[in-house]
Amino acid sequence: MIIKNNLDEIENYLVDASNFHGNCEAVYFPESKEEVVQILKEMNDKKKPVTVAGNGTGLTGARVPQEGVVISTEKLNKIVEVNETEKFAVVEPGVVLSDFIKVVSDKELLYPPDPTEKNCFIGATIATNASGEKTFKYGPTRDYVMELEIVLPTAEMLTLTRGKEIAKDYSLKMQTDSGKEIQLDIPVYKMPSTKNTSGYYCKKNMDAIDLFVGSEGTLGIITKAKLKLLSTPEKIISCVVFFNDEKNALSFIKEARNISLNTRLRTDERTIDALALEFFDVNALNFLSGSYSQIPEDAKAAVWFEQEVTHSNEETFFDYWIDLIKQFHGDEESAWFAVNNTDKIKLQEFRHSISAKVNEHITKNNLRKLGTDVAVPDANFEDLYFYSKKIVEEAGINYVIYGHFGDSHMHLNMLPGNSIEFETGKSIYRKICLRAIELNGTVSAEHGIGKVKKEFLIYMYGNEDIKKMIALKRSLDPNLILGRGNIFDIEE
Ligand SMILES: Cc1cc2nc3c(=O)[nH]c(=O)nc-3n(C[C@H](O)[C@H](O)[C@H](O)COP(=O)(O)OP(=O)(O)OC[C@H]3O[C@@H](n4cnc5c(N)ncnc54)[C@H](O)[C@@H]3O)c2cc1C
Repeated sequence: MIIKNNLDEIENYLVDASNFHGNCEAVYFPESKEEVVQILKEMNDKKKPVTVAGNGTGLTGARVPQEGVVISTEKLNKIVEVNETEKFAVVEPGVVLSDFIKVVSDKELLYPPDPTEKNCFIGATIATNASGEKTFKYGPTRDYVMELEIVLPTAEMLTLTRGKEIAKDYSLKMQTDSGKEIQLDIPVYKMPSTKNTSGYYCKKNMDAIDLFVGSEGTLGIITKAKLKLLSTPEKIISCVVFFNDEKNALSFIKEARNISLNTRLRTDERTIDALALEFFDVNALNFLSGSYSQIPEDAKAAVWFEQEVTHSNEETFFDYWIDLIKQFHGDEESAWFAVNNTDKIKLQEFRHSISAKVNEHITKNNLRKLGTDVAVPDANFEDLYFYSKKIVEEAGINYVIYGHFGDSHMHLNMLPGNSIEFETGKSIYRKICLRAIELNGTVSAEHGIGKVKKEFLIYMYGNEDIKKMIALKRSLDPNLILGRGNIFDIEE
């Protein structure tokens, strides 16, 4: 196994896309689960901190070590099986998501969890319960995890299969591969009803596998996963529509969301069922205008929507969407429809480029990311949106807003020009998170808490519930070696 400790060779592992920096003694590159077991055994005996690394596209410093050693999963990168008949795949954690999507789509299968950044590792997307544009229809990563092979911090192996290890009320029993019984008390707290990746997933009668999904590298190292696949849709309508009044864009999303949710309940005859409902504010459009001549000069907002169709109903749905665009005064003329796969990829790039450009700006100016990941129940979303916009404008800080508005999930990214603005931006960020909590939402819908949002998790759940999360972690990681500094701080 390769072990690197020369700073030049390991400095990439001391940072992630949030520009959060850290330190470690060495980076290990295991090539098998046995090697992961061997490292964890040694580190657990020495009580030395271990941080698991995916591909470093995380936005919360979660894979950034503060001490001890890093285990990179990049050499655990095999796609073990793609089963076309039963529609599942078995993968190692270091498989790059875009590679996996390509392999399964060549077999006319779809792996729906679709974070905007596809250069991430699958193990990490499970550890962060990643979601993305299409979560509005397909749900987050959690919904696709059928089985996990995990190395616990104590170096024991655990294999969990969805539906097999179910808690009795709040008491969960699991058995390691060597037969040792583990009994956990699941904390009793209420998680928000929104999309959520804030703290451990804990529920009455929950499935053990759900505890590990979204646990941000703190409870175990995923060494293999069995993932559910779907059939590729026959066709997808994909379109970016521009609006010269932001309120119309928001109302368009609201109506498309309502119709889609009703369609799923079979109560709306228009049967629009959006895959994605993504929003861009005027600042986001200005940020992109240099690279995209399609953006009309007077555009004040845009919405990217997608819908699954078939060759036979494509025209009907096209007409439904045009009617909706007209109803909310969208600019039908400049609407950017993808007519083939190349166009569809261009629209995806358009969406990706706004997040990527924001991250470039942060890194270039050597600032830490100040981007919200808040989501609230649909009924409270406009309150959150206009409140956030008002306070950032009053402070005079440049910002862009975009995100998964179908899920009432907003990324407001501040672009401070200097460290004084950065400090002001921090207090605005804090106010937005607190507002989201007041509105029964979450401070992290998809990126996780990592090392940068711990304060807000305490506001969400309160100290007593955080202590229960820590007690749960301690049951699996008595020496508290794994993912130290993620989700919560532990006072010895
Ligand atoms: C431009 C841009 C856009 C983005 N858009 C989205 C988006 O739409 N949706 C979204 O959800 N995220 C998004 N992200 C965030 C990021 O891509 C995801 O959080 C992704 O899941 C991180 O993957 P990674 O391989 O880079 O993980 P890393 O950053 O390396 O690690 C993330 C976490 O996973 C843990 N981990 C990694 N591997 C394992 C393992 N095998 N076992 C246990 N724990 C492990 C790490 O310890 C860490 O806690 C975006 C990021 C960027 C830069």
